[in-house]
Amino acid sequence: MSRSRKLLDTDPQTSERMRRIRRRDTAPELLVRSWLWKRGARFTTHNRDLPGSPDLANRSKRWSIFVHGCFWHGHEGCKKATVPTRNNAFWTKKIADNRARDRKKEGALRQLGMKVIVLWQCEAEKLDRDEGQAANLLTLLPRPLKPSSCQQTCGKRPMTPNQLARLIKKLDPHLPISDSFETEMPGGRAEQKRAWYSSQRQHWLGWLTEYKGPGAYDRKEPGGRDAEFVYNHIVNPKMLIWLAEAVGAPRGRLLRAKKAALSAGPRMQAMSAAIRGEFPYSYIETLLKANAPRRVSGTRNGS
Ligand SMILES: [Zn+2]
Repeated sequence: MSRSRKLLDTDPQTSERMRRIRRRDTAPELLVRSWLWKRGARFTTHNRDLPGSPDLANRSKRWSIFVHGCFWHGHEGCKKATVPTRNNAFWTKKIADNRARDRKKEGALRQLGMKVIVLWQCEAEKLDRDEGQAANLLTLLPRPLKPSSCQQTCGKRPMTPNQLARLIKKLDPHLPISDSFETEMPGGRAEQKRAWYSSQRQHWLGWLTEYKGPGAYDRKEPGGRDAEFVYNHIVNPKMLIWLAEAVGAPRGRLLRAKKAALSAGPRMQAMSAAIRGEFPYSYIETLLKANAPRRVSGTRNGS
């Protein structure tokens, strides 16, 4: 042991850097896992039975992900990947070997018909800002079935307005993007003062009680509608953008929806359609169901 240490006389900074490198359950890996999990993707970790043991994999959906440390796997052009000047030849060779091994592993997985995504540590750290590889990862998410086809294939019934209300009760009433949208939209501030509700969450809940009988809007139509119908008939862009933000839609997509709505204005109908274009009901329902269990365990209460 002491002899092998003598072979490579490293400086303290390099040893510290190497010491911090862990093989599995690294911070970037955990970030990727939670990012995907929150959005409804399911996977296994440490997949020793697959070539190269990818960090995350879903065998039936045939995808795998490696989360690579930038230094150790030689992320080209990345600040985190600078090779120490001391023992430069040693590190350069070591990293080149790792890269060659990585390419081999990826090739073996592709041969099995699996999609392979390589996420660098520095990209994983940007996921929550909807940058880096976020768009690429979204392609791995399960595509929700339409209520009708779902009834045929899995026997599940579409969500009712009541169930939607129960899930909405658990969401944050105020969020930065939708709050700013409320004041930016035409006549937004004046309407805020007149409104009977203090948050879009309360607004939604008031609207949804209509489907159980006459409520705040004194609708004549009786119940029997599902949550998708309600969502598609909301003529209020503020309610729609709040819901998308509350269920955890990525920031980039929220900003895009906000911009589309503001330029489609001032008619509420057109603004609502612009938001639904970015966030169709199926997308909202998937996120709502995926995020709901996490919120239930919290202690958040009140309006
Ligand atoms: Zn990097």
